[in-house]
Amino acid sequence: MHEVALSEQVAAVARRAAGGRRVHSVRLRIGALRQVVPEPLAYAWEFTTAGTSLDGATLDVEWVPGRLRCPAGHESLMQGEFDVHCPRCGEVARIIGGEEFTVVDLSVSDSSGSPDSTGRPAPEEDA
Ligand SMILES: [Zn+2]
Repeated sequence: MHEVALSEQVAAVARRAAGGRRVHSVRLRIGALRQVVPEPLAYAWEFTTAGTSLDGATLDVEWVPGRLRCPAGHESLMQGEFDVHCPRCGEVARIIGGEEFTVVDLSVSDSSGSPDSTGRPAPEEDA
């Protein structure tokens, strides 16, 4: 249950960054090489945050593909999870992306204020 441990890490980071404010969403960047599976992660996040100060916060994940650069300087996306050969010349390439696991952004509001401090348009009213 790799995803539960990751969720707990993310929750800890989000809680510290929020500093007591209410968290609406957490934006994450996850590289393909981390082998995180979306559904178990979403489930683990719900399970980890239920009943805590993060209850109801959504997890917004930006998935980053694995990227390679070979000695000849060709950059490419990884074709398979464990294939580090350059698809253009067949040389063994270096991994230059896809190992990210970062909390990119948090959407928060003061616990006392309305949750509408994010610049969302006000609901329409009858004139
Ligand atoms: Zn190459």
